[in-house]
Amino acid sequence: MAERKVGTVAHWQSLSPILSIFRLMPEEGSPFPEYKAGQYIALRREDCRLTKRVMGEDGKPHYVPDLDEARNRKVGPVAHSYSISSAPFETAHDRYLEFYVVMEEAECGEPGRLTESLFRIQAGEDDKVGYVNRIVGDFTLDKRAAGARSVVLVGTGTGLAPFAAMVKQLDFEAAEGRRDDVRYTVFHANRSRAELAYHEELLAIEAAGRFDFVYVPSVSRPTAEDRDDPRLGAGRGNNVLRHVFDMPLKEEEAGEAALAKAVKPTLPRHLSRAGLQARCAPAETVILTCGNPSSMADIKHIADTNRIRYEKEDWKLVLPAKA
Ligand SMILES: Cc1cc2nc3c(=O)[nH]c(=O)nc-3n(C[C@H](O)[C@H](O)[C@H](O)COP(=O)(O)OP(=O)(O)OC[C@H]3O[C@@H](n4cnc5c(N)ncnc54)[C@H](O)[C@@H]3O)c2cc1C
Repeated sequence: MAERKVGTVAHWQSLSPILSIFRLMPEEGSPFPEYKAGQYIALRREDCRLTKRVMGEDGKPHYVPDLDEARNRKVGPVAHSYSISSAPFETAHDRYLEFYVVMEEAECGEPGRLTESLFRIQAGEDDKVGYVNRIVGDFTLDKRAAGARSVVLVGTGTGLAPFAAMVKQLDFEAAEGRRDDVRYTVFHANRSRAELAYHEELLAIEAAGRFDFVYVPSVSRPTAEDRDDPRLGAGRGNNVLRHVFDMPLKEEEAGEAALAKAVKPTLPRHLSRAGLQARCAPAETVILTCGNPSSMADIKHIADTNRIRYEKEDWKLVLPAKA
């Protein structure tokens, strides 16, 4: 059994009211275990606002606030898994683990139990976060991309987290002279430019050209300023990928009403559809994706349609490790 430990949040970067990056320092005297880019760890807070399961009139289970006899909200521990967005070399050097998290919104409109507690840290509340001292998962390049000449990483929202770790680590290793002959392409989509975590860092890694890397950022609610930014594309991640592979938008397949609302996908101006298609020849490509479940389902459809190998990290189906 891996030990439970308590770390301290040392850095909190708010990207928007519901999106943040934070760094967790390990318990004093005990560095985090070694890990591979793409793996995850279980985090836990003790003061989460608890929910309970009730059967709705619709015959389906729902989660509602859990109240005590005096009708006060019950508070207690909740643990969940989180992909690590720091690269192993960063942890080896500076000891922290980094995370890219979104505040969950449950169906009843309530914030998620653990994320609500985590997001209170930025307001100066208790900065302690429990963790299981074990880093696990097989969503790593050696397990999921072995043999591919072209690796396409599609992160919707915080689904970029494992890919940020992979790209930073590849760049670090390339700077040390350790590089392979694989082409790496990252698609990252979020609602706004501010919510595109690691944007500047990924642009800098692409510009440095230490390994074969192309970065395709896009925003699904582009402002006029975003439209003027030559390094930024527009559209949801799945639709940008559909655009690359010459497929109709998902909304186009769903009917006209949905299409009217869809943002037409565009690429950063230095990239062309033909150039990206040439990088991602189906027979030698694997698409790895992580993030929003409905986007991932569509990305699988795109991969299947184009006969491309497909791998995903499913945040919904993996049971959280016990903490
Ligand atoms: C391998 C892995 C990696 C992940 N990486 C990240 C990451 O990098 N970034 C990120 O933001 N997220 C990540 N997640 C998701 C994360 O683990 C949490 O699920 C998410 O943050 C929501 O937690 P919460 O406590 O705020 O929400 P919850 O309160 O757990 O609510 C989430 C859903 O759980 C259900 N629920 C509510 N109450 C209960 C209850 N009492 N019992 C059972 N179910 C309930 C409801 O359907 C609700 O919509 C990852 C998940 C996995 C499995």
